[in-house]
Amino acid sequence: MAEWTFAALTAEPEVRARWERVRRYFFLRESTYDMTRRCNIRCEGCYYFEGDKQHAAEHGDPDAWRALMRAERDRGITYVVLAGAEPSLVPELLRVCHEEMPLGAIASNGIMHIPRAVGYRIHVSVWGNDETSARIRGARHMLARQIENYKGDSRAVFVYTFTPHNIDEAGDVVATLAREDCKVTFNMFSAPVGYSGRLRHTPESLARTRRTMTELLARHPDHVLFSPYNAVAHTHRLGLHDLFGCSYPRRNPSTDLGLGRSFRQYRTDLEWDRDAACCVPDTDCPDCRHYAAGSAVVTARLFRHATDPDTFRSWLDYVDTYLAVWVVDYTKGRNLCERMTAPPGFGLD
Ligand code: SF4
Repeated sequence: MAEWTFAALTAEPEVRARWERVRRYFFLRESTYDMTRRCNIRCEGCYYFEGDKQHAAEHGDPDAWRALMRAERDRGITYVVLAGAEPSLVPELLRVCHEEMPLGAIASNGIMHIPRAVGYRIHVSVWGNDETSARIRGARHMLARQIENYKGDSRAVFVYTFTPHNIDEAGDVVATLAREDCKVTFNMFSAPVGYSGRLRHTPESLARTRRTMTELLARHPDHVLFSPYNAVAHTHRLGLHDLFGCSYPRRNPSTDLGLGRSFRQYRTDLEWDRDAACCVPDTDCPDCRHYAAGSAVVTARLFRHATDPDTFRSWLDYVDTYLAVWVVDYTKGRNLCERMTAPPGFGLD
């Protein structure tokens, strides 16, 4: 096969324009923060309540959070992910973080509305239809309450997490969200360390999820933020670490550059531990297909994808999707590669 130069890969105007657009965001440097150890629901398989981070003391002093955000800015962090257990329960802390660090995202179950003054992207987690949510999250009328809170709110993206048991419900849930003009993207259940429950994916459920993601992307192109390559990368029989090599400190011993140097995952007591630091700690790495993990792990592999036009276009689609999901005001473009492309060095499945 002929070797492609980068100039040749970016020669087509639409590819060149997309590359120029996404590279403007390469300044983003993320870290993540557990805001509170409380949650107003309890979901089966929730990674927050695995491991010992749930036992860290809560640090609810807004001045301490303000000082932390300033210190983070000083060491080069430009983007914060506020999570664990349920950030909407501490709106004052979210406001303080946003004042100091204007770019970021909040992972929320969407039951309580986060005040508009907090201008972060808000990821509203969806685990199936209302019947399923009542069963595995213990919350009733979940989707209706989430839509009521976030319909028409440009901060919100609904994140549908596929388990082996809610694949067939996704069509109705996504149709409902699209009807209400809500944006939606996809996540994969990734098993916590030692988890042997029924939510762990199988080869059959991975294949079925991929087909469903692809169909929903085709059916709702204006509301589903995803691409064929996202579907491949997240439903491959191998997890993200095996496919791309995870760059988070928990799996990456190098402290020289990138996430290995800058990423920290703060617990509610404002401490952090390099050995546990990744966006989904306590997830079983070989099973990690998490959307948040992919947003860093796949996007960091530019050179590995700069091999041929389809692979490079697929990577651009992935980065474009990642920015649309994580950055307020970034609008997703049309996907540049409509066909499934294999991760470099691997097959499609
Ligand atoms: S769980 Fe995922 S993101 Fe975290 S270290 Fe393992 S592979 Fe990386």
